[in-house]
Amino acid sequence: MIVARTITEVRAAIAARAPGATVGFVPTMGALHAGHVALIAAARRETGFVVASVFVNPTQFNDPSDLAAYPRTEDADRALAGAAGTDVFFAPAAEEIYPAGHATVVQVGGPSEGFEGAHRPGHFAGVATVCLKLFAIVRPDVVYLGQKDAQQVAVLRRLVTDVDLDLRLRVVPTVREADGLALSSRNVRLSPDARAAAAAIPRALAAATEAHRAGADPVAAARDALRGLDVEYADLATFGDEPTLVVAARVGGVRLIDNVPLRRPELAGL
Ligand code: AMP
Repeated sequence: MIVARTITEVRAAIAARAPGATVGFVPTMGALHAGHVALIAAARRETGFVVASVFVNPTQFNDPSDLAAYPRTEDADRALAGAAGTDVFFAPAAEEIYPAGHATVVQVGGPSEGFEGAHRPGHFAGVATVCLKLFAIVRPDVVYLGQKDAQQVAVLRRLVTDVDLDLRLRVVPTVREADGLALSSRNVRLSPDARAAAAAIPRALAAATEAHRAGADPVAAARDALRGLDVEYADLATFGDEPTLVVAARVGGVRLIDNVPLRRPELAGL
């Protein structure tokens, strides 16, 4: 596995791949876990050359303390990415991506509004900006994204369509712990009590799925299962034409999000 720190290095490594090999790209913020590994493994199976990036993008954090507390585990990330079949590990410094004078912000409307967009002002502009830059640097054929961040997928789909990017988005089902909690880099910050309480979130998604199947109200079922948690929202969103039950809650000071597409619950990995 080649480790690239600069745009020049990553472009050179990609240019030197076997002729005709398709490029699969997995953008991440590091602190890699089995969810990220599932994305890399899918890219390994489905494309000829796999690029994974680790970049804790400062512009998508609306809360400076969340950015400061974000786990950084690059040595372990390199080992996991390499074992999962990554060809190039791109881990740039912030100044490489945002050099002095950088002044472009990509603002996607539509799916950026509401939910994460409402609760984290500027978040999706940061995501869209960094992703468009990374797509321009890597020029992937296929980009691998997790269902875990369903609204992010919807925003990036809009971006790809609106600026006519010649790439395909591939969405990978959410990977979960044994009790159903979605893997997240933020889970390491949960105290044992908070970790136990967080299991209410996947229970709420399962209850919503069941209610939807039975013709009952999925939102009421989810909210019922979340009683006692500090819920920011538990509601029905429509991403593309996909009705999706979305949840954001603070558990012991850690903000967690999760979702289930009600017509395709298998994508939630529940
Ligand atoms: P992050 O490093 O949290 O920005 O996530 C990088 C990519 O991994 C995004 O496409 C996420 O949706 C995806 N991802 C994060 N957690 C999971 C999970 N538990 N299962 C599947 N994909 C995930």
